[in-house]
Amino acid sequence: MSGYLKQRHGMTLVGNTPPGTCEMCAVKHDPAQPHNCQSLTYQYKFYDQNGRFPTWKDAMEHCTQEVKDYWTAALAERGDRGMSIYRYGMRSRGFSPMCQPMDGFVKREDDPTGNYHDILSYSRKLTKTETDGYELDYLGESSGDWRTA
Ligand SMILES: [Zn+2]
Repeated sequence: MSGYLKQRHGMTLVGNTPPGTCEMCAVKHDPAQPHNCQSLTYQYKFYDQNGRFPTWKDAMEHCTQEVKDYWTAALAERGDRGMSIYRYGMRSRGFSPMCQPMDGFVKREDDPTGNYHDILSYSRKLTKTETDGYELDYLGESSGDWRTA
């Protein structure tokens, strides 16, 4: 099953990836290791095939149990459990290019209370340097699964 991107967004993917890189995620990695889940190529290829964005679990689907265990532990250590959403309020401006960290960014929402320009959701907890630098207020962790947010 594929072609979701074309059906829903009118986009067709270029099938070719740079020589020497993984044809799924366009990153050079050992085939026994997970795809790079943050790779846009991977995200769109996966979306095209499955109609949803990939999780780390999908990225390591082809790996041995040993490799899966290793990555599950490594990701848990990084705080990227895929089971929490960290929400931040934008104090001084709204969502725009270069105005917020993009690593782990999940979505932008309007603030129903009007206290913030925008509410941002992340799959990881931002560092203090990031929240200070971008003038973001930490609003708390929601138990939702960011993969389906
Ligand atoms: Zn890959």
